[in-house]
Amino acid sequence: MNKNTYDVIISGCGPSGSLLGYLLAQNSIKTLIVEKECFPRHKTCAGGIQHRALGLLPYDISPVIERTISGIYFSFKNKNILLKKYSSPVMYTVKRSAFDNLCAQKAAGIGCEIKFGEKMLKFELAKNHINVFTDLNEYKSRILVGADGIRGAVHRHMIKNRKINRIIGYEVEINANNNSENKNKTANIYSDGAGNIFDFTDNIRLDFGGIKRGYCWVFPKNEILSCGIGSPSSNAKKARQYLSVFLEKFYGQRNHSGRNFKNMQISAHGIPVSAKNMPLCSERVLNTGDAACLADGFTGEGIYNCLKSSLIASGSIIKALNYSDFSFSDYSEKVNNEILGEIKSSILLTKIFYGSINIFYKIITESDSVFSSCCKILRGEKSYGNVMQRLKLLKF
Ligand SMILES: Cc1cc2nc3c(=O)[nH]c(=O)nc-3n(C[C@H](O)[C@H](O)[C@H](O)COP(=O)(O)OP(=O)(O)OC[C@H]3O[C@@H](n4cnc5c(N)ncnc54)[C@H](O)[C@@H]3O)c2cc1C
Repeated sequence: MNKNTYDVIISGCGPSGSLLGYLLAQNSIKTLIVEKECFPRHKTCAGGIQHRALGLLPYDISPVIERTISGIYFSFKNKNILLKKYSSPVMYTVKRSAFDNLCAQKAAGIGCEIKFGEKMLKFELAKNHINVFTDLNEYKSRILVGADGIRGAVHRHMIKNRKINRIIGYEVEINANNNSENKNKTANIYSDGAGNIFDFTDNIRLDFGGIKRGYCWVFPKNEILSCGIGSPSSNAKKARQYLSVFLEKFYGQRNHSGRNFKNMQISAHGIPVSAKNMPLCSERVLNTGDAACLADGFTGEGIYNCLKSSLIASGSIIKALNYSDFSFSDYSEKVNNEILGEIKSSILLTKIFYGSINIFYKIITESDSVFSSCCKILRGEKSYGNVMQRLKLLKF
């Protein structure tokens, strides 16, 4: 095979692209990932990996796990802070720069070629292959995968002008440990601007009610706390304003180090949630992860579904190469059955939950069985479908 010719080219080396590259190289498929950034690179993300996502990864990510989470501090408009604990871990936190770098190294280690600092620009479908053009090279490939998120070239080509449901996420990172008495580096004891003490060693924080159909979060890492807000992009301005209110209380106007959160850099990024009839593939081309708009409609998390779509894509690609059938109808069918059904339920649950937020907030914080159901979803022991079934029985 020619030097610039591949079985599969993947645009983007986020968790979706690197897992797919790993799985294809493991099956001796000549695969190239082109990634526009040089790793390690910053990625706007809270870095929460749901427990259920660990089971999808064929390698150990413990070297980059910073916190193992089994509890949630709930609050409503910053008031009535309440800690609820679960009996097992529900989530792990990572710095995305380290996590994405580790996943890329795993793919490269098993034989997937990765070109960093090379941007995919466009592609053309030829009779028996695809011509792929980057800012540095031209390649030939039998299959092209868009794992390039919502700003990627393959994503934009496939989605065209379709309207996608978008959640806007704002994120800022602050010092994790502002308690000078606390010499224990393995604990994150944090006192907020209003005098509340949080133990972020193994707990996250979620604040509801401050913004329509969204929430604020605090996800702890070893040295930083990732704070942010997610809400439908139509609420972007209000979300940004409420994040300031939340941070003012949490961080204080000016904390002990004299830093003012207003001078800190808040980054923003869209999170795509699939709408009706969103195309997932065309002849010789398929999209995975955010490029396929597969984020969770309730939490806005996308890592679990992006890994799941890559697992499904690897099976479809192996089949396509064996049978020289590049329509990928089986990919669409499986993603529909195994991911999009859950996304639909998550969107419906969002409408029900935020439609009566006062009632549901009370239920989630006061009922151990409802809290436990939420934890079971994060652990992969229950699905949104199961929860919707129960809600139907309750005639919501
Ligand atoms: C504020 C915020 C907080 C979030 N928090 C969480 C969380 O806690 N847990 C969770 O599960 N999800 C979270 N998400 C969502 C999560 O970040 C995404 O769903 C996830 O990163 C999707 O992975 P991916 O591999 O599909 O795409 P990405 O991670 O976006 O990776 C795409 C890659 O493609 C590259 N690329 C783009 N264009 C090109 C091109 N033209 N050529 C070559 N390369 C290109 C990019 O540089 C990037 O490396 C959050 C999102 C936001 C915005």
